[in-house]
Amino acid sequence: MARYDVLILGAGAAGCALAGRLSENPDRSVCLVEAGPDYGHLSEGRWPADILDPRWLALESHLWERDDAEDRSQARARILGGCSAHNACVVLEGAPSDYEWGSGWSYEAFAPYLRRAAETLRTHVLADDELTPWHRAFREAGRADSIVHPVNIVGGVRWHSGFAYVDPARGRTNLTILADTLADRVLLEDGRTTGAVVGERELEADTVVVSGGAYGSPGILLRSGLGADLPVGEGLVDHVGTGAGWEPTEPLLAQTAAHEAEHGLYMGQVTIAARSRSCPPGVNDLFVFPALDVGPEISGAAFAMKPFSRGSVRLRSADPEAPLAIDHGFLRDERDVDVLAEGFERLRELAASDEVRPYVARELRPGAEVDAEMHVRATARGFFHPVATCAIGRVLDERCRVLGFENLYVVDASAIPEIPSANTNLTTIALAERAAEWI
Ligand SMILES: Cc1cc2nc3c(=O)[nH]c(=O)nc-3n(C[C@H](O)[C@H](O)[C@H](O)COP(=O)(O)OP(=O)(O)OC[C@H]3O[C@@H](n4cnc5c(N)ncnc54)[C@H](O)[C@@H]3O)c2cc1C
Repeated sequence: MARYDVLILGAGAAGCALAGRLSENPDRSVCLVEAGPDYGHLSEGRWPADILDPRWLALESHLWERDDAEDRSQARARILGGCSAHNACVVLEGAPSDYEWGSGWSYEAFAPYLRRAAETLRTHVLADDELTPWHRAFREAGRADSIVHPVNIVGGVRWHSGFAYVDPARGRTNLTILADTLADRVLLEDGRTTGAVVGERELEADTVVVSGGAYGSPGILLRSGLGADLPVGEGLVDHVGTGAGWEPTEPLLAQTAAHEAEHGLYMGQVTIAARSRSCPPGVNDLFVFPALDVGPEISGAAFAMKPFSRGSVRLRSADPEAPLAIDHGFLRDERDVDVLAEGFERLRELAASDEVRPYVARELRPGAEVDAEMHVRATARGFFHPVATCAIGRVLDERCRVLGFENLYVVDASAIPEIPSANTNLTTIALAERAAEWI
């Protein structure tokens, strides 16, 4: 039976970062297991074009099967790099108060890892002349509340966690990558793990790190029988939002075409932060932003960034290929309806501002006659930022060890106990950077 010092189950945003850091020690053997494909070092030229192209979400390929194919909020990538390989490349950290997670966790303690992760992702802020006329108008309308996005785009390539962390480690003889290999469950014996069942075989390990993401990791732990004593899969939370669409004016179409010819188009460029009437101190509980899909309609969206509603991830079957039962619980807590309705009003206000108004002829979706609350209730969806299904403090101790198991860790978005008021990739990778020092 193959044996490793560390076995990492899942090569996503966090798993790749862990594999890169943990294999820096040449005396430690590391095996990285990924259900999806690995296309090798970027320089080999084998990565699919949609995964490399950072301008749009890559949601047409490399997706996990969903139990409800219509539920886009469940979308997640099955490929080395995980969701960092198909995401919008926005690199934002949360507010300091987002990181008060109990013993040993604070912004002060976490900030060095956020910085290290941002640097390793080769993050830079989009240059002013890269902003499309549509994004620029929102930035100007949002004034001091506008955030021009820091992004992990390098030379026109989505710089996912595999390129940032695994490529520099590929030459190391102590790193093994098992792609196209599904992790079923971890092997447990007397309060310890001894390895895992992956594909058709068992692998032995001194330490196992589960890094299957906020949906995949609870799946692995539940198949391992850990749901009986711990609230594995409970507490799922994602930012919740909705969108609007407008008829673009001739000036917007003409200016966007001219901008595209010179600079290309990128969807994620600007966010306007906002605070609802019930916003807790120290954070912005709303993000409002212009999207970029200029056609018969141009759109924007609003998201509640500190939602109260919680859902769950459960097993439908013991078969590791069976889709998981994912219930986001969006708007289960009425407070989220109120906050999001305020966000949607803010989006409409921005669209009606002096800066944006010249670009929109009229609201097509939902239409000016539809009130914000009704629209929110009818269309709420996720932001692709699920967290907290194996949370620190509930399922894990403060060092990401499964409670009761000294050599079994969960390190990925599922470990994040409270959703940060920002996109989650940077926080997840920073968590991996920190946990790598403990493993
Ligand atoms: C469409 C989309 C757009 C996004 N845009 C942004 C953005 O612009 N900015 C931002 O900050 N965040 C964004 N996010 C969120 C961000 O990408 C995630 O927070 C981050 O990728 C989470 O990392 P993770 O390691 O927890 O999980 P993932 O990155 O999902 O990685 C989990 C990995 O484990 C593998 N896996 C799961 N189960 C198994 C198993 N049983 N056996 C083997 N392998 C398994 C998966 O295939 C995957 O590769 C976006 C997410 C999506 C889906």
